[in-house]
Amino acid sequence: MSCFDVQSFRQQFAFFTQQPSWVYLDNAATMHKPTAVIDAITLFYQQQNSNVHRGAHSLSQQATTRYEQARADVAQYINAKQAAEIIFCSGATAALNQIAFGLMHTVLQPGDRILLTQLEHHANIVPWQLHCQRHGVIIDVVPLTKDNQLDLDAYNQLLKLKPKVVSFCQISNVLGHIQPVKQMIAQAKLVGAITVIDGAQGIVYEQPDMQQLDCDFYVFSGHKLYGPTGIGVLYGKFDRLTELTPIFAGGEMIDQVSFVNTTFNQLPFRLEAGTPNIAGVIGLSAAINWLQKFNIVEMQKHKLLLLKHFYSGLSAIKGIDLLSSPVHNAGIVAFNIIGEHHSDVADLLNQQHIAVRAGQHCAMPLFSYIQQRGAVRCSFAAYNTLDDVNQCLLALEQAVEILT
Ligand code: PLP
Repeated sequence: MSCFDVQSFRQQFAFFTQQPSWVYLDNAATMHKPTAVIDAITLFYQQQNSNVHRGAHSLSQQATTRYEQARADVAQYINAKQAAEIIFCSGATAALNQIAFGLMHTVLQPGDRILLTQLEHHANIVPWQLHCQRHGVIIDVVPLTKDNQLDLDAYNQLLKLKPKVVSFCQISNVLGHIQPVKQMIAQAKLVGAITVIDGAQGIVYEQPDMQQLDCDFYVFSGHKLYGPTGIGVLYGKFDRLTELTPIFAGGEMIDQVSFVNTTFNQLPFRLEAGTPNIAGVIGLSAAINWLQKFNIVEMQKHKLLLLKHFYSGLSAIKGIDLLSSPVHNAGIVAFNIIGEHHSDVADLLNQQHIAVRAGQHCAMPLFSYIQQRGAVRCSFAAYNTLDDVNQCLLALEQAVEILT
């Protein structure tokens, strides 16, 4: 039994007192922001607003100090070796694009291979594809087992093709399945591959430890960690980051500019062209500092309790086709009402103020593979309650009655 006090945790979020009628089960898309984050952003704009790294005045110097402190906070949270290994960008998508673009210009050669998995979000497919087509790099894909888990035997077989890069999600955003990342990274390293972890869904599940995981790159978005939208993190080992050709060029990322020869700034600035999302960075560090006041393990247990309850409730409703497995699941469940369109189900839930997502969840290759046209997805956060789960189950029972 979890001893996590969900009611007092919920009080940290103005949304739940101001919009009490909503049951919010779309957390894999984006999470609600605690007052601590909203206040930090408001304070910055109301009292401290200034650009960073360039002003001669003390407001700018203070903004720069806060911005760089935030970088140190993120580095500490994910146990990076140094703050310069943290690159701020707009989110996981931007980070994956930077890695794909950057490696394609330096490390990857025609005929090289990249290994992805059948579970990937489009953000971890299309950036590679864009460049592979032009540079003659081949993409291999790890298939799934019958219960839609990653086929780890096939992964080991595909590693024998000696991919230069192995890039995969820590947790599937559709099914919620958790990959054995540490083991997979170690196996990829044995064949000399560069490892890229899409931590978009993983970052809120557990506090990752970069030095322990030992991956080359890890990316995530702030808005899936109680932070604001438009801010994310590209973590890379320092030497790996130096290999990346910047995807954006302009102010801040340069040392000297002339029409004859331009030289570049040191890391992390070389990969942060232009005015950054300063308020977003401050909001993200506020989220991380706030989150550390709570016991993440207890929060995880609470989420697993919700998952278990939801899963057994769903299994008892006749006519539900469950795509997610409850095994190695982080609290995301994809399903359908047999014969019905996922959007119709989500519409009926929406009429009762139950927010879920329906569609292909930016993972079209996965849906082709499992031969489904889409799914309803319920994703849980630590602020959800058993009452939320029960309301959703009841609404789904009614949906089955109405639609079938
Ligand atoms: N990767 C995964 C697994 C995701 O779930 C998402 C977003 O849902 C992304 C990447 C892209 O994140 P963002 O849209 O915040 O850049």
